[in-house]
Amino acid sequence: MHELSLITNLFDILEKQANDKNAKKIVHVKLQVGVLSGAVPELLESAFDIYKKDTIAREAAITIEKVPLKMDCKDCKAELISNDYILTCSQCGSSNLKTIAGTELILEKIELEI
Ligand SMILES: [Zn+2]
Repeated sequence: MHELSLITNLFDILEKQANDKNAKKIVHVKLQVGVLSGAVPELLESAFDIYKKDTIAREAAITIEKVPLKMDCKDCKAELISNDYILTCSQCGSSNLKTIAGTELILEKIELEI
């Protein structure tokens, strides 16, 4: 399961941050998940809840914000936003597109209790 390895990596980062700041616990974690990141937010949430039990984040809540796909058309400079793949520009029909956002998974914020 893809989400479980993402969560394992996430916890490596969380525990390192908490250690660096001598935090007692992690109270809140916020992720941004691109619609084309390959991760399903609902599965990330349940993986987080399973994994957190024996960690410093055992009482932490998670918020996952879905980030739509954003692309720029290199020909007409239109900005295209969608929740699905964009193959051609809706303005000029060009396929000369550049991906700006929507394919990544970002740890946006960690709230710690010190
Ligand atoms: Zn265009």
